[in-house]
Amino acid sequence: MYNEADALAELSDIPPDPPLMRSICSQCERPTSVCYCTSIPNPRLCPSSRIILLQHPAEEKRCLRTAPMLQLGLDRGKCLTFRGKYFPGRHTELIDILNSDNTLLLYPSTSAVEITAVRENCDKSPYNIVIIDGTWPQAKAIYVGSPILHKLKQVKLLISAISNYIIRTQPSDGCLSTLETAAYALAALEGDNLYKEKLVEPLKVMCEFQLKNGAVSHQSKEFRIKNNSYPKLIGKRLNKVLREAEVMKSELS
Ligand SMILES: [Zn+2]
Repeated sequence: MYNEADALAELSDIPPDPPLMRSICSQCERPTSVCYCTSIPNPRLCPSSRIILLQHPAEEKRCLRTAPMLQLGLDRGKCLTFRGKYFPGRHTELIDILNSDNTLLLYPSTSAVEITAVRENCDKSPYNIVIIDGTWPQAKAIYVGSPILHKLKQVKLLISAISNYIIRTQPSDGCLSTLETAAYALAALEGDNLYKEKLVEPLKVMCEFQLKNGAVSHQSKEFRIKNNSYPKLIGKRLNKVLREAEVMKSELS
């Protein structure tokens, strides 16, 4: 009979994996062959405002993440990251930040005002720009579960450009990666386009690299549905089923 001890003995006979030969960049923690560090702003940028990332725990596990690029592109203390599914949670140091009059939440609700309008109305005092880092459903869940966020002034970006981050399928057009969101927000509040040009450089480099090496460029689901760019050879009914499945998937993911 096959028991647990036998199974363990068998396992111990399997030779260990060969050592990993590829070297890892100590800064971006990616294999040196796909390191993007040379495209990070040097010296790091030092805006008067700072970015506060509220990161969903699942975001950290994604293989293509843009938050580290942001962290590396800004001076120390200009990008703070807090992890959790609701806030402030155990992060007591967030309470003061989230209660400050100078804190803005980037959240595309119907009541959100365009970020450029904030700058026109204000003195040049530094802002805390809160960005929820995760997929759109994760961001919504964090927002709903964190009442302290509800009273913050909500701002949005109006951008028509399709994301640089073309490798990751965007849930809808105008939906940007965390890095792009932060870069555009800083450019708007600081009144300096340098922020969006310099900060997104590593993302461009990485996307170009991935595309050259076979990653498929995606248009957003919204774009594909609108333009009917689903497989052409299938019938109308199957097409409808696929669209519904796509919508359901995007709501669940
Ligand atoms: Zn690197």
